[in-house]
Amino acid sequence: YGDGFSWIRGSMLGKGSFGSVYLATIKKSRSKQSYFPSVMAVKSAEVSVSGSIQKEREIFSNIQGCPDIIECFGEETTMGDHGVMAYNLLLEYGSGGTLATRIKKSNGKGLPEFEAKVYTRSLLRGLNHIHQIGYVHCDMKPDNILLVPNYGRNAITEFRTKIADFGLAKRAKMSKKRKLEAYWRGTPMYLSPEAVRDRVQEAPCDVWALGCIVLEMLTGKPVWDEKLKVEEILRKISAEKESPKIPNELSKEAKDFLKRCFMRRPMYRMTCEMLLSHPFLQGLKNDDD
Ligand code: ADP
Ligand code: MG
Ligand code: MG
Repeated sequence: YGDGFSWIRGSMLGKGSFGSVYLATIKKSRSKQSYFPSVMAVKSAEVSVSGSIQKEREIFSNIQGCPDIIECFGEETTMGDHGVMAYNLLLEYGSGGTLATRIKKSNGKGLPEFEAKVYTRSLLRGLNHIHQIGYVHCDMKPDNILLVPNYGRNAITEFRTKIADFGLAKRAKMSKKRKLEAYWRGTPMYLSPEAVRDRVQEAPCDVWALGCIVLEMLTGKPVWDEKLKVEEILRKISAEKESPKIPNELSKEAKDFLKRCFMRRPMYRMTCEMLLSHPFLQGLKNDDD
């Protein structure tokens, strides 16, 4: 599992509360027998605040080997800017940007249904892998889903998706009750009712968030009105009588798929494995994405 990379820092790809993500051109790697790409993304933080990235690295190594999840090639500690030690994670580069950017480019119209389906199937496979191994992602949203060129032989879309950002991920069935604000980064938009009300996040939370993402891909708009205040979004999520609005124009299969993701009681929500054989995805002829 490769350490011993030497690389040149390129442009900034993203900025988080922890530190930054940069493009990296790999000069050489010591492990010559294995294949590594020449370009990677480096997620970097000062060592003193790198606890969450180090935890992320541990999760990456436990779940590696799924083509629907960003790969982690290694970790290293280097002398960073201003003589401060930095902790770096070397990651597979999502050269197509995030799903959030892709949805924005649709100008509020949403993606073509076939493209949304291809991405949905990939997200379900990735999540199913994470859940089978006993983890919950806890931060599924378009910003944390990366696009890479799709080289599949029968590919019908230019890009394919990969799940990234395991900074809030946790082991299943080991809930620590935290403060409500600790349950999201940036926006509470994708939180499930049980996360808001009972502070529990297990696999069904990821399924609820996936429903929000699928709805956003199909309509071009987030599940709750973006202009609402945080408290108002939290109130809508946890209110028994409010459920996400599923537009009638969507296909019958899409509407049914979304309904199953948005069951309020987590025990009634379908699992990723069940959703993979939902009629919404059966129209996809080609398995090579
Ligand atoms: P945070 O925990 O701060 O949200 P992320 O891992 O989500 O950190 O990274 C922040 C942003 O950096 C992402 O939303 C994305 O825009 C960009 N980014 C992260 N990882 C990659 C990657 N492997 N390839 C390309 N861009 C990335
Ligand atoms: Mg993120
Ligand atoms: Mg994070």
